[in-house]
Amino acid sequence: MPPTASSAPLRSASPPPSAAAVIGLGLLLFLPIPVVLYLFVVHPSPLVWSLAAGVALMLGHRFVARPYMRWAGPRRCLWCGRVPPRPRAEAKTEILPLETGGGPFEARCCAGHGASAARFFAFVYAARWPLRLGIFLPLLLLLAALAASAAGAAVPLAATTDLFRLLVGITVNAAAWGYLTARPVRPARVPFPAHNFFLLGVAPLLWVFRLVGIWWIWLGARGLLGG
Ligand SMILES: [Zn+2]
Repeated sequence: MPPTASSAPLRSASPPPSAAAVIGLGLLLFLPIPVVLYLFVVHPSPLVWSLAAGVALMLGHRFVARPYMRWAGPRRCLWCGRVPPRPRAEAKTEILPLETGGGPFEARCCAGHGASAARFFAFVYAARWPLRLGIFLPLLLLLAALAASAAGAAVPLAATTDLFRLLVGITVNAAAWGYLTARPVRPARVPFPAHNFFLLGVAPLLWVFRLVGIWWIWLGARGLLGG
């Protein structure tokens, strides 16, 4: 039976964004994170401007990354970051309910990928305090050393930078491998700013954690051991 006017699907005012647009915009919004880390870790001269630009980018990033999460969350898989082909999107995907700092959020995942994401968030929620300490304590120390150094104080900036790289490298590797030991929990409780997980997808982000983390462990340990 041909569709009647009342049962025909509603035509949307604008065509849905392409997969390249959804993924490309996420990548673009991810880039401030390595830029901030570069400004803090390499701290190009003048130091005070590196520090100021890094802090401004770090604090301002959420104001563009949060709207991206709301826009891209229903369109791409939270786990692998792919955009499911349109006609089959509803049938081949699942919804993973999240409890984020900003309230509940329904994340779309490919069929089967919701369990991987739920497993990852179960681990980071259970280990949230060691993970927070492993990231924010070295960050606070590095920011304090950068501020003191910019003010002209004699502080061990190189050693503090190496310690930052070593501890953050260990922490992100613990998260990237440790989640394999956890069981999926739904709804998934997200103890860190949720928008950062939507920019690449969790699985690609974990490969960044593993590879950059191992590089940082090597650099940090070598620097601290005087190599
Ligand atoms: Zn997926």
